[in-house]
Amino acid sequence: MMNKSAHAVKEDHHSMPNSTRMPPAQALERLKAGNARFAANARQVDPHAFDHAVDEKPIALILGCCDHRVPPDILFDAGLGNLFSIRVAGNIVTPTQLGSIEFGALTFGPRLLVVIGHQRCGAIQATLRDLIDNQPPGSDHLKAIVDRMSPACKACCEEHGVDTDFDELTYAVTINNIKNSIAQLKSESEILRDLIDNDGLVIIGAYYNMDSGVVEFFEDE
Ligand SMILES: [Zn+2]
Repeated sequence: MMNKSAHAVKEDHHSMPNSTRMPPAQALERLKAGNARFAANARQVDPHAFDHAVDEKPIALILGCCDHRVPPDILFDAGLGNLFSIRVAGNIVTPTQLGSIEFGALTFGPRLLVVIGHQRCGAIQATLRDLIDNQPPGSDHLKAIVDRMSPACKACCEEHGVDTDFDELTYAVTINNIKNSIAQLKSESEILRDLIDNDGLVIIGAYYNMDSGVVEFFEDE
């Protein structure tokens, strides 16, 4: 599947009726409304029910952090089957994450992909400590994650200075890391580029504030 040409990808999507796909703007409004309920402690979606209004297809793809405090289905008050989520420390893009996203986009057809970072992300903080305090990660596997986020960390440390308040620096890196992940998704996946150019896929960034419960979307991505 991953070696399909852009032409083959387009044919795949033309075989999927448009009526089964939720437009990205509508999907985004659903996510915003769900997060507003979550932030107001007013969740109401039945977690055991598929949303038959969208033909049991996920309304959005989510690339988020694996942090136990930031499950997308809860943050967006989404029902079972509503979100196709890929979670990995620091919401980074690696070949396996990218393959999962391509699979979800091709198979189920959601046209909104959200890359979401979050407040006090441990992966971001570990990468910063590695860079600032020379505290290397404890294994090659952890280093593989840190290495993916190092460019965002280095750029922010150079721009803001390493003496900047750690929480402020963490926020800046988190935003930069989200942008890097979006850029990687676009540059590394011919399939996603084709879906963006020819089939209405929209990729946006988002930031979850754990203190307020509010997700801020960056719709100009
Ligand atoms: Zn995190």
